[in-house]
Parts: sequence; C-alpha cells; structure tokens
Amino acid sequence: MIQLSSKMERLTPYVPGEQPQDRSYLKLNTNENPYPPGPAVEKVLQHFDTEALRRYPDPESLRLRKALAHHLKLQTDNVFVGNGSDEVLAFAFYAFFDSRRGPLLFPSHTYSFYPVYCDLYGIESRPVPLEKDFSIDLEAYLQTDSCGVIIANPNAPTGIHLQLDPIADFLSRYPDDRVVIIDEAYIEFGGQSAVALLEQHNNLMVIRTYSKSMSLAGTRIGYALADKTLIAAVNSVKNSFNSYPLDALAQQIGEAAIGEYGYHEKACQRIIANREKLRAGLSDAGWQVLPSAANFVFARCPGQTGAMVYQRLKDEGILVRQFNQDQIRDFVRITIGTQDQMDRLLATIGRLWPR
Ligand SMILES: *Cc1c(COP(=O)(O)O)cnc(C)c1O
Repeated sequence: MIQLSSKMERLTPYVPGEQPQDRSYLKLNTNENPYPPGPAVEKVLQHFDTEALRRYPDPESLRLRKALAHHLKLQTDNVFVGNGSDEVLAFAFYAFFDSRRGPLLFPSHTYSFYPVYCDLYGIESRPVPLEKDFSIDLEAYLQTDSCGVIIANPNAPTGIHLQLDPIADFLSRYPDDRVVIIDEAYIEFGGQSAVALLEQHNNLMVIRTYSKSMSLAGTRIGYALADKTLIAAVNSVKNSFNSYPLDALAQQIGEAAIGEYGYHEKACQRIIANREKLRAGLSDAGWQVLPSAANFVFARCPGQTGAMVYQRLKDEGILVRQFNQDQIRDFVRITIGTQDQMDRLLATIGRLWPR
C-alpha cells in the first residue's frame, strides 16, 4: 500500500458540474455564458505570437492588472489575478482565515468550494442558516469570536442578491481586523457591487471571475480587489505555490476582454432578459422560483423531487444541477441560456409536467 500524506484524510474534494462528453446536452448545469467571447478576444487568438509561449509569462500579470484597475477606477496594487477565482479563493483562505481566532462564517447553503477549502487547510467553519426565504441576514454574522466571513453575492445556488446598504452596515460593525470576502462571481447580472465600499474598509476583499459574465470559463481568469496590504498577502501565498498562475495567452485574453466590457454588458443584459422570461414561464407552469440576480434560477416543481426533475430533464437531453442537501433538495439550479434554449426548456417542462 502506498503511504499517502496524513493530510489526505481530511480532504473532501469539490464535485464540479458534469461536463459530459458522450452526447450533446443542452447544458444548463454549470452557469456558463451562452454567448461567445467578444471580437477582441478572437483577434488575440488570431494574432497571438507563439514566441510568447517559449518564455515564462509575466509572473505579476501587470498589464492585465493595470487594465482591470483602470476599468474599476482602482490602483494596480489593489488588484490580484489568479487561475480562476477558485484559485484566488484558495489563496485568500490560506492568507486570512485561521480558526485559532474562531471559526470562519459562511451561509449554510452557498458555493460548495468554501467548506472544501476549510477541509484542505484545517480551518474550522460555522455555517450560518439562511432565512426562511433563503436570503442572507448579515445580523447573524456579527459574531466576534469568528476569524472572518465569506459570502457569495448574489448567493449560489439560490441566486438571491443582498443590497449594498446591509453590507455597508455590516462592515461598519464587524471587527475591522478580520477579513470579509464577498464573492461576486455573478454580480454583473443585476447586483450592486461592494467595490464601492473598498475605500472605507481595508478588511474587505471582493473576488470576481471572467467565467460567467465574460464568457471565458475555459480561460480560467479570476481576480481579487482589496486594499494593497490584503493583495500583498494573497500575492505572497501565490508566490509560495505557483509564481505563474496565468499563462501568457490568458493574460492577453483577459486584457482584451476587459477592453471590450461594453460587449459583455450587452450579453449580460440579454441574459437578464432571458432570465426574467424564464422566471415568468416557470411561474406560469406552477413552479416556485426564487428571485435571482444571477445567470441562473433556483426553482422547484411542486409534487416532484429535485432528483426526479433532474433525471427526467436529463433523459430529454437537458442538464440542470441538483444539490442533495437538506432544505434545497427539491430545487434545481437552471443556468440561463439563449432565448431559444429557454423556449426549448419551457416546452419540455410543459410536456413533462402539464399543469
Ligand atoms: C463559478 C463560481 C466561482 C468560480 O469561478 P472560476 O473563476 O471559474 O473559478 C467562484 N465562486 C462562485 C460563487 C461561483 O459560482
């Protein structure tokens, strides 16, 4: 028997949504963007100089960070970039959360990578129950024996969005020597960003991704925005793990994509419109749909288990995501696609579960 490290015993790996290779599904299970990346990204791919692949990439991703800082009206040293926001989150957990000062707080139902990183690093966590309507009430996070807080806003898999006022109020009352992370993976689909609060709160870190709003999940670009002290800490973790998290092509693509932000904004607007139509269609079909400010909806078909809805849609060639967890077992998370895709979904639902 090969001896594994004792740390392996506490690992509970994240389970990503299916990426089936066997047949072509209508994939509404991993919150990918249905629209392609923009023309500036195409151009980078057409003109990319392979000489750049011979050399190591810029370890600091300086041009990309400058472009992001310019776009967000921040300084370059307020920006960190990593290989997907999952990696940025991993570095941030390592840098900031230490349960000798108390457990890390996050919602009982949220992005399932948070507990995975806690297991990986041996960080104790304390899940805070969601409200009855599945929303987050930050009053419950004012626990001074905690080592930090992380919330996704909009939250996953509910899609429910928390306004900026309660976040600002929370930050003014939570101990300012502990880090609060807001994961804004879905903020571009109608939410209010906490970037506006960075200037007043140097214990706040906002983490974002190119995967959803920028149609670039395959390129793996995530970024963190915070006071430069926090950015420097995350950078130290990066340089203790992998100095070159973003390859040369990803850095150029990231810069090009932020330069055509208007293109992505329009795509997000279309997704918002498709979402609202899907929401109306599901409600007409008798489904319960939580209010969403993300590129997905969380919904349930009365009288059906979530597992059944998932399986019957899969049999029809439509993939959605179901989470086998208390309270949300009977819901499915449906990624917003194109209008045609949403029409096909609604037609299938109408046929499978007529009113
Ligand atoms: C998708 C997602 C991420 C990860 O995004 P990547 O940048 O693709 O790693 C992080 N947080 C939440 C809440 C997400 O839904």
